[in-house]
Amino acid sequence: MQKNLKMNLQDRDRKHIWHPLTQHQTAKDPIGIVKAKGALLWDENGKEYIDGIASWYTTMYGHCNDHIIAAVSEQMQTLDFTMFTGFTHEPAVRLSEKLMEILPENQAKIFFNDNGSTAVEAAIKMALQFFHNRGERRDTLIAFEDGFHGDTFGAMSASGISSYNGPFEDFLLKVVRLPVPQEHNKDRVLALLKTLLQQHQCAAFIFEPLVQGAAGMKFHDAGGLDALIQLCKETNVLTIADEIMTGFGKTGRNFASDFLAHKPDIMCLSKALTAGMFPLSITSCSQDVFEGFLSEAPSKGFFHAHTFSAHPLGCAAAIAGIDLMLSKGMQENQARIKLSHEHFAKVLSTRPKALNVRVKGVILAFELDNAMDRYGSQRNQLYQFFIDKGFILRPLGNTIYLLPPYVITNKELNKLYDTILEVVN
Ligand SMILES: *Cc1c(COP(=O)(O)O)cnc(C)c1O
Repeated sequence: MQKNLKMNLQDRDRKHIWHPLTQHQTAKDPIGIVKAKGALLWDENGKEYIDGIASWYTTMYGHCNDHIIAAVSEQMQTLDFTMFTGFTHEPAVRLSEKLMEILPENQAKIFFNDNGSTAVEAAIKMALQFFHNRGERRDTLIAFEDGFHGDTFGAMSASGISSYNGPFEDFLLKVVRLPVPQEHNKDRVLALLKTLLQQHQCAAFIFEPLVQGAAGMKFHDAGGLDALIQLCKETNVLTIADEIMTGFGKTGRNFASDFLAHKPDIMCLSKALTAGMFPLSITSCSQDVFEGFLSEAPSKGFFHAHTFSAHPLGCAAAIAGIDLMLSKGMQENQARIKLSHEHFAKVLSTRPKALNVRVKGVILAFELDNAMDRYGSQRNQLYQFFIDKGFILRPLGNTIYLLPPYVITNKELNKLYDTILEVVN
């Protein structure tokens, strides 16, 4: 034991650990992280890193946030855990009340899960069973090309990024796809949706509203998406907004759906929901969806549960996170980052190597002018360049993006901008 403790994390890790999204034959050793605060992380050698992507868009109020820590510490001393079937508790009830204050007005019920993929699974199962309960056969989902919704089977089916799905394609749900609507093609996309609705028995349309994260922070047109949702509503097809990435202020409003006139029937939330402190997710829905499950027949209920549904510690973190999101300080931080990004975007746009420079809320993204494979060697070199310099950025192919925690300082932000300029110069 003594001997193990003297070995570094990398050597001990290599013995027994299998990492996610990793080809172990060629991957470099992972970095052993020992501490984090605000927008900073430190590795076991004392090297400091600026977290430019808020650890996969979770720690938006900063790492080891005092308010979140206090809320979770207090909760764990009162009630650690209870089953959520047949029982309830204050943190879950309180969180449902808080969410009702900020979610789009048509959302009425909160279903708890434990991670992003399971929030999507629950949403898809809700949609399929909603029609099954009514005796209607609907076997098809509609989703965007290049969407990402998670790595479990239902979520993977809805996802259109083939580098993740390849080996499983024969085992997935039936999904038909639409390109994302842009200013130039939105009428064509709407017409395509009309055709798909006629050709297939569609249960639901699932989408990442306004920004497709894993696809490379691709933006699309709010008006175009609104028209698609409206058509679904007119033809009685459920709409599912996957706001796991976009939720909790990143796009400049609390939710990306706040930019839409037509509100989704079902929403998926996770990631920043708990400020990175605890895995938890939510599938919220309208009263109509909920009522589709009410019956004297037990089998028409939603028989879906995860052991850790509505974990009190996750709920406590989420309540504290929403307090922070709505606080004057965080609102000012969001506005400050957006302004700063917009200023930097102007500078970046003058560089011929930086294409399609775009900003939405605290998200800044652009493409480098040479194409790269998603996990190709050029992309990996770029990733390593940032890491060597102490920046955590994860280029998606040739897309470089920033999605910093709201607490990042101007000084830290400028360091990120400078290193990006170095790449494009
Ligand atoms: C991360 C993500 C998911 C999956 O969440 P996990 O917690 O990783 O399972 C689903 N949808 C979107 C949009 C995401 O960004």
